[in-house]
Amino acid sequence: MSRSVLITGGNRGIGHAAVRSFAHRGDSVAFTYRTGGIDPDLAFLGAMPVHCDITDPEQVESAFKEVEADQGPVEVLVANAGITRDKLLPFMSEEDFSTVLDTNLTAAYRLAKRAVRSMLRAKQGGRIILVSSAVALKGEAGQTNYAASKAGLIGFGRSLAREIGSRGITVNIVAPGLTDTAMAAALHEERVKEIVGDVPLGRIGNPEEIASAIAFLASEEASYITGAVLPVDGGIAMGH
Ligand code: NDP
Repeated sequence: MSRSVLITGGNRGIGHAAVRSFAHRGDSVAFTYRTGGIDPDLAFLGAMPVHCDITDPEQVESAFKEVEADQGPVEVLVANAGITRDKLLPFMSEEDFSTVLDTNLTAAYRLAKRAVRSMLRAKQGGRIILVSSAVALKGEAGQTNYAASKAGLIGFGRSLAREIGSRGITVNIVAPGLTDTAMAAALHEERVKEIVGDVPLGRIGNPEEIASAIAFLASEEASYITGAVLPVDGGIAMGH
């Protein structure tokens, strides 16, 4: 059955792979973008681009309205959009910290709250998938802001899972390791080598591998899974 799916940050990276995965499955997929052009491949797949800066409550509200008008109330929300602003703590400004928290955590609260409102009204259950990070579990020097935001998603998601489980809405968290996107490309080559050296599978992940986990958590096969943190990280954070 085709579902109404909304994915934030679908114009590139992991979100782009998730849009393709849901669209191939036959779902109605909308995705937010903030900057740059839209990949014609996504339009070809019938996915709907919605301009939205997720840090702006008004833009989030109008994005949901646009999606609802086009494909009905959101049944699957993938809160994927995120940023880094890596710095060692002594050099990290209040703005570096709060901008990352606003984008990665507060915006996820805003998106989930809006999605849950319409899911409860529709009484059809629903799926919420939050994209966290292996860094939330194991920590990373230079990423105190990012790790705090991504660990916050775990506590947020598990609490929400307890609030709305009785309504048939699942909330799960995917925790990717280093994945081959623009975010990883921003790291120095040496740092990438060091990280990969710690990955039991010995390589960086690709966006499709993260998208598969997201698609699984949204699928019928995952109907009894909620509040889970699913690492997709080649094993780097195991034991944390
Ligand atoms: P990219 O940098 O490739 O993409 C980030 C996406 O987030 C873009 O689509 C971007 O939109 C969007 N975005 C950022 N800020 C905003 C905002 N304020 N409003 C709307 N959209 C915004 O990153 P990835 O694909 O790698 O990352 C996707 C998710 O996966 C993130 O949450 C990231 O933290 C997480 N992750 C990534 C890992 C990696 O190694 N790549 C590892 C672990 C987790 P735009 O292009 O318009 O700016």
